[in-house]
Amino acid sequence: MSISPTIPLDADGTHHGFLKLPHSRDDSAWGSVMVPITVVKNGDGPTALLTGANHGDEYEGPIALQELALTLKPADITGRVIILPMMNTPAFAAGTRCSPIDGANMNRSFPGRADGTVTQKLCHFIATELGPLADIVLDFHSGGSTLDFLPFAAAHVLNDKTQEAACMAAMQAFNAPYSARMLEIDNVGMFDTEVEKQGKVFVTTELGGAGTSTAKTVSIARKGIRNLLIHAGIMTGELQIAPSVQLDMPDDTCFVFSQHAGLIEYLVDLGDPVAKGEPVARIWPADRTGVAPVECLAQRSGILTARHIPGLIKLGDFISLIATEVPA
Ligand code: ZN
Repeated sequence: MSISPTIPLDADGTHHGFLKLPHSRDDSAWGSVMVPITVVKNGDGPTALLTGANHGDEYEGPIALQELALTLKPADITGRVIILPMMNTPAFAAGTRCSPIDGANMNRSFPGRADGTVTQKLCHFIATELGPLADIVLDFHSGGSTLDFLPFAAAHVLNDKTQEAACMAAMQAFNAPYSARMLEIDNVGMFDTEVEKQGKVFVTTELGGAGTSTAKTVSIARKGIRNLLIHAGIMTGELQIAPSVQLDMPDDTCFVFSQHAGLIEYLVDLGDPVAKGEPVARIWPADRTGVAPVECLAQRSGILTARHIPGLIKLGDFISLIATEVPA
């Protein structure tokens, strides 16, 4: 195992340190990638693994988890909280989705390889050394630089219905303004899939995006962490529960992808209703005048839940996610 924690993972108290991964390179022959980690433990009880910046350009998780690592006291909990605010440290430092070291997307690289690239080694350590310690895992995401989302917590449809129910209950406890039964475009290599395979209770989020965070989205993250730790029996206190719109993503007609390149004009905004067959957006030519725009049509009725961010769009880019609202 080439990765070593600089702190104990099983000692009572608060320990701040790093996962140290040797990374020999031009500017540092015997250098290391240092992934910040905090472990807070008090006696025997459940373990929560809380992670941010799986993608390096998503910010609610890192902010809320930095605050938690600074403020959570052993006396506040029974059990253990393992906090990695900037799990994909190289990507986070670069402000990019993927790692600048090996170009890898961490959330397509699980379960990783002990003898792989930097991202693969990090994934391998997290999957084999941290995942098994956890009873509940919360991995924060938002849209990054190229997407924006309605703020939702999500759980996946799973084959094991007991596990699925536990994940859905944890998602409801997180209590984001929207709660989604989530369908992934491609779940191969995801952290989600790995910890679900290990039988863990898993919750993820998409809290916003557009390459930044807002006061509102960070407050959703902060409240969600506290609620989840109470739900898991690690903290005591009252859950703070507000109304949450329930969303479903039944099949791939939820997604629209661009078959053109150009200047994108959205005709609806996040949270707006859309009817099947209506245009979500139109794409104007970016290189000539006098040509009509191409309309991009909704393939189902629902609520605009995610959209592309930059003003220009490329062939093959994601345009829209339309989820359906279901009764609570
Ligand atoms: Zn992400």
